[in-house]
Amino acid sequence: MSILFSSTGWAAEGEWPLHGGDAGEQRYSPLEQINPGNVADLKLAWSYPLGSKRGVEATPIVADGVMYTTSSWSIVHALDARTGKPLWIYDPKVPGAAARKACCDVVNRGVALWRDRVFVGTLDGRLVALNRRTGEVIWSVVTVDQTQAYTITGAPRVVKGKVVIGNGGAELGVRGYVSAYSVTDGELVWRFYTVPGKPEHADEHSEVTLARKTWSEDSLWETGLGGTVWDSMAYDPQLNLLYVGTGNAANYNRAQRSPGGGDNLFLASILALNPDTGTMAWYYQTTPAESWDYTATQQMILAEIEHRGVPRKVLMQAPKNGFFYVLDRETGELLSAEPYTEMNWASHIDLSSGRPVESAVADWSELPRSIMPSMAGGHNWQPMSYNPKTGLVYIPTRSEAYLFYPDPDFVFRPLAFNTGENFPALDEKIADLSLRQCSPTQLSAWDPVAQQMRWQETMPTTLSAGVLSTAAGLVFQGRGDATFLAYDANNGKTLWQVATNTPIVAPPVSFSIEDEQFIAVSTGMGGGSLAFNPSPYENDGHMLVFSLQGKATMPPRIARPARTLNLPDALVDRVENGSSSAAIEAGRISYIRYCLVCHGVGASNPGALPDLRYASKKTHDEWLAVVLGGLRQDQGMASFSDSLNVEDAGNIQLYVVSRAMRSRLWYSKLMRWAIDKVCIPSSWIVD
Ligand code: CA
Repeated sequence: MSILFSSTGWAAEGEWPLHGGDAGEQRYSPLEQINPGNVADLKLAWSYPLGSKRGVEATPIVADGVMYTTSSWSIVHALDARTGKPLWIYDPKVPGAAARKACCDVVNRGVALWRDRVFVGTLDGRLVALNRRTGEVIWSVVTVDQTQAYTITGAPRVVKGKVVIGNGGAELGVRGYVSAYSVTDGELVWRFYTVPGKPEHADEHSEVTLARKTWSEDSLWETGLGGTVWDSMAYDPQLNLLYVGTGNAANYNRAQRSPGGGDNLFLASILALNPDTGTMAWYYQTTPAESWDYTATQQMILAEIEHRGVPRKVLMQAPKNGFFYVLDRETGELLSAEPYTEMNWASHIDLSSGRPVESAVADWSELPRSIMPSMAGGHNWQPMSYNPKTGLVYIPTRSEAYLFYPDPDFVFRPLAFNTGENFPALDEKIADLSLRQCSPTQLSAWDPVAQQMRWQETMPTTLSAGVLSTAAGLVFQGRGDATFLAYDANNGKTLWQVATNTPIVAPPVSFSIEDEQFIAVSTGMGGGSLAFNPSPYENDGHMLVFSLQGKATMPPRIARPARTLNLPDALVDRVENGSSSAAIEAGRISYIRYCLVCHGVGASNPGALPDLRYASKKTHDEWLAVVLGGLRQDQGMASFSDSLNVEDAGNIQLYVVSRAMRSRLWYSKLMRWAIDKVCIPSSWIVD
């Protein structure tokens, strides 16, 4: 299946006109010029600075010789795909304060292209149609209630004259939905809510009424319940079905969220929708009563593979819960499901009911439990690739545990994390977390017919990156140690690698112009691991494009500047004289609630955002103006004056200073934990 849209009708052979390469999202390139015999000669053809210091997760679209890609803050770049020359840049001017609503960095996963238009969803919830030649705005609509914690990070898809877009925000507490707008003028055509709204409001459509029966009347309605459609979709034009993946619950703890039980539809589900009307043809819930951040928003691949010797039209997904699912995509019938990574939450999927059989340790509603896969999932947003020639799916996998720690006193806090976890208690326990593997990320070649692993390569860091496979038998993937590699698709042998300027999480694509094949990938570390993965390099996001004739020079690795302590004497005195322990503890709890996601555990941030222990004198002087006054909101640091007062902000500052005063000891302890448990390369320790 390859349904391509461009101004000339069909895109040229070998371009990358749709998010997943084709409408079935296989992320497979038919190009064969670069092959296992010559890939060792692959060189940089051009690079382009994205001007991004945050995560870059976009899949570039390439059509008619132009590349359309996005960087952090939802900024769109149109580039000459042959040379990298910028044609236009569109900056939607997302308010920096919107960063506070993003669970997982100010990322964007790319645009959709249709005839003369480019569509982008912005972090603050707009859907914008741009003129493909000029980048000028044709129309722009707000798709969310901007007073709530909604974000858009996913790429839109265009189906039958409609541009379809979801949103994120379940960690902070929102109600999920997916919407279709007219490509012509941005008018809303349909909207599908994935979970029921507050009982006092009428159900918007019959599927909401169906879902409501699976929720307790005493559900935590104020959390919105989640189920957000924040990433994957796929489309089958023959069946006229649009497949949509839904996310995790808000909050995570099902005993609090829906007391008395129920499956809590349509959390963690695959929905097959009629794209003309938004009505549902079938659904499959991967994780009934989802309680572990086990989204089913991971990529869905449409393909034809054999099941018991008979070719079937299938949908394949490796969602966060660790099972690889093969469904009949016409009916939603579950054909097979097997674990593709280590897990302890369920023993297997019962094929007759289609339901997971949970283990005794799965339920953490009363006691802390160490669960595998972790909340990051056995596989997350990083796209996988299906290669029809090898019959294998190449999955960026994870294998790690996470300690879910219940908070019996949960109260909803607007614009804060509302997962139902006791983060202050978890913070104290974090050094005891037992992660079972030194290298928690892998590239896994999975046989979807036999439901077995064929080969697996372990990665040197905790970062995971998207995958491309090609007809020539190559698999391309970036790494968290700032390397880009080509593997033999048959056995995982490394055939080529190059040192890049900074780490990679984005997926590669391939395209051909005038008989020259190119491989493109963006650099730029970020996403959910923004605050946790060390890098010695400036996070200087670039588009890198390689070919066999390439002659360009790699953008340089820029070392991060040395850091110094600039602690205010008065605060140092307060920490030293021992009278402020209650204030420090209050600061710790506020820090965990409002600051940790971006600034890191223990006020220590080895990643791309400021490590507050090394804040400048100016930052300390301006502390209240920054935290409460929004002085640096243009840089992504929102005001927290709606949640914190002057005393709270001062306590956070005191806590940060106390951390800095013990930083060497504590930081080295954290790093030792990181090396022992999650295997961050020791060369990357920057402190
Ligand atoms: Ca989530």
